Amino acid sequence: MVVEVLRLGHRGDRDKRISTHVALTARALGADKIIFTVEDEHVENSVKKVVESWGGNFKFVVEKHWRKYIKEFKKRGVVIHLTMYGANINEMMPEIRELSRDKDILVVVGAEKVPKEVYELADYNISVGNQPHSEVAALAIFLDRLFEGKTLYRDFEDAKIKIIPSNKGKVVIRENQK
Ligand code: SAM
Repeated sequence: MVVEVLRLGHRGDRDKRISTHVALTARALGADKIIFTVEDEHVENSVKKVVESWGGNFKFVVEKHWRKYIKEFKKRGVVIHLTMYGANINEMMPEIRELSRDKDILVVVGAEKVPKEVYELADYNISVGNQPHSEVAALAIFLDRLFEGKTLYRDFEDAKIKIIPSNKGKVVIRENQK
């Protein structure tokens, strides 16, 4: 299964930090690719620098024709839109996990008001509780449930920096120490 995240919208300076966090969360919690619908060189470079140092094959792409992208994706996978108006993740996750056995997953998260069309294009509109919060939180919880916590142990072979988990401070291994 391939997991992609579509970050729908990005309001320039206002969203730089949160959009970067959406991408880093996607990578850290198991997604293979992030698709931005708006170009932002600063965000793209920050994410690529993290991939360069911390390893893995996480892809960053910009796709302005997001409707077409979603429609194409539906030919090979399941589109999940995270929204506070959706069906509760607790009830829906067993079905989604079952589908993910042989289908790819595209997770859509918004920035500002999400066009109605997205609700219709999605195969599932899923809420992480029905209170408004954040795309970063919603994405993190969704991916963690999808992968059942396993991606928290992820290690990348080609990483230049690695952390050895420790209960007593920072233990970091850098490439030149390997
Ligand atoms: N007011 C906007 C709307 O009506 O779509 C939502 C803006 S919210 C700051 C940005 C994104 O966070 C949403 O598009 C959604 O993907 C995600 N989000 C926020 N709360 C959520 C929740 N309770 N469940 C799932 N996703 C949520």
